[in-house]
Amino acid sequence: MAAIIDGKKIAQEIKDELKEKAACLKEKGKTGALAVIQVGDDPASSVYVRNKKNACAYIGIESLSYELSGDTTQQELLALIQQLNEDERVRGILVQLPVPGHIDENAIIKAIRPEKDVDGFHPESVGAMTIGQKGFLPCTPAGIIQLLKRSGVEIEGKHCVVVGRSNIVGKPMALLLLRENGTVTVAHSRTRNLKELCRQADILVVAIGKPRFIDAEYIKEGAVVIDVGIHRDAHNKLCGDVKFEEVEPLASAITPVPGGVGPMTIAMLMNNCVESIAEIEG
Ligand code: NDP
Repeated sequence: MAAIIDGKKIAQEIKDELKEKAACLKEKGKTGALAVIQVGDDPASSVYVRNKKNACAYIGIESLSYELSGDTTQQELLALIQQLNEDERVRGILVQLPVPGHIDENAIIKAIRPEKDVDGFHPESVGAMTIGQKGFLPCTPAGIIQLLKRSGVEIEGKHCVVVGRSNIVGKPMALLLLRENGTVTVAHSRTRNLKELCRQADILVVAIGKPRFIDAEYIKEGAVVIDVGIHRDAHNKLCGDVKFEEVEPLASAITPVPGGVGPMTIAMLMNNCVESIAEIEG
């Protein structure tokens, strides 16, 4: 039976540490706000935005909310980002993705100043991470590293297989595992022999975006399994990319869905905001 990696509990620990840190910074006169921009009223995005604002309130960071209509032009959005870039009170800018189709996501990400890029998506942040320089780390993969470390899972020397190569999860995940001295293989939709490859993993991170795709046949006995996927099944129940009930008996540790990776993403966003406030001079 696997140990269940409790992301909810670990995220709470991190948020409590950050709350203390933010209070210490406040005593030194260092405060700042996270600006959260949502374009349109996609219900899932609204939930994420609300959770982010609640997390700010819990930690003691101000959040500024910009709810723009779905027909906001790219130019209008860029103008708002520019204004927030210039606003010294704003230490972090977050545009909830996805943005509507008429807006170029890359142009938006690039417009946010790297020192306010608390999502860690700006090309400069990505470049800094790649060559091991200072910069904000993307929240989901950074949260997974914290989950592993705080659960006592050693990464160094382990064969880590990351399934998925998206810019927000798979690729940065591979880089961060490499930074922790894991031996990393990245698999994707064109990978041959995915099962055999996954069966070689000591640590398997699954970010495919396909409900319950990974079953027992993909797992080496004793592997640590991290499930990034979030889906609703036919009964409207949340599930991941991994068939939990089949994989759990084989794994040595596994994240559940919900309550695994999900809560860590917001905790690491808060970590980036507090780091940004800590950077204030004086
Ligand atoms: P994307 O759809 O952007 O990427 C999916 C990746 O999986 C691609 O690289 C794709 O390969 C690969 N893939 C698809 N099918 C297969 C297959 N049959 N075999 C091997 N590889 C395959 O997804 P994201 O990375 O954005 O997200 C992945 C999942 O994680 C989603 O369920 C998403 O909802 C969830 N998520 C959860 C977060 C959290 O906080 N818990 C945060 C972000 C995402 P190719 O590149 O070749 O197309």
